Amino acid sequence: MLWRVMGILASASVLAGLLQPAESLPLSSPRADAPRPTIAATVSPPPVIPSEPSDPEPPATEPKPKPVDCAKLKCVALTFDDGPVSGTADLLRVLKRKHVRATFFVLGQQVTAHPAIIRRMVAEGHVIGNHSWNHPEFWGMSAKAIRRQLARTDHAVASITGHRPTLVRTPFGEINARVRKIARSRGDALILWDVDPLDWKKHSAKVVAKRVITHARRGSIILSHDVWPSTRHAYARIIDGLRAKGFTLVTVPELLGHRLKPGRVYLRA
Ligand SMILES: [Zn+2]
Repeated sequence: MLWRVMGILASASVLAGLLQPAESLPLSSPRADAPRPTIAATVSPPPVIPSEPSDPEPPATEPKPKPVDCAKLKCVALTFDDGPVSGTADLLRVLKRKHVRATFFVLGQQVTAHPAIIRRMVAEGHVIGNHSWNHPEFWGMSAKAIRRQLARTDHAVASITGHRPTLVRTPFGEINARVRKIARSRGDALILWDVDPLDWKKHSAKVVAKRVITHARRGSIILSHDVWPSTRHAYARIIDGLRAKGFTLVTVPELLGHRLKPGRVYLRA
């Protein structure tokens, strides 16, 4: 079984873009049986590696959040990939102001560059997941190399927070039997998504917000990238828009709860 989410979405959007305006694209979910698209290598977004210093703002500990019951509430989970970067602090400010906790799938090399932001995420109740060390394509990599990517990031996060992540999102959403086996043996759940605003491609806060608000459903896992200023600017609007539609915004563990199992792949609740 092969997964290559970004490639599928990118190629679908290239095709759909010829037919209709980008704003009205139906946002597709990753599919288990989809073939590997041949153009994927040319459209996959590169990870953004900023050089700015990390945000010096001190962490402020939040009161412990009340438990949420997603069996009763219309829950969705906001997830952010490829950071942290110094601009992630802007997003954290928005999330704090609006009392939203999210899940960040971080790159190990960014973690070591921005430890203060990681500390702040944890202090403010966000969940940290592993998105590899430096965003390589897992397909075609040896088990040893994949394990090294994940372990280096575990170590970087644990050296700051005291805990290693147990949620993994592979770069580009690439999952195959080898990746699942590794995840199972490490005790990691594999978290993909069902809503992708293609924010790495469309740098418009307004468009990204509209796509997320339009396509979120009960149980959705929403993908975005905190490395883009346009995405960070979109989130005040997105949070208000989702709440206006009756959604409760939760972390991935809150959304999936006891259903999280090592080696399993989740696109939504
Ligand atoms: Zn990524």
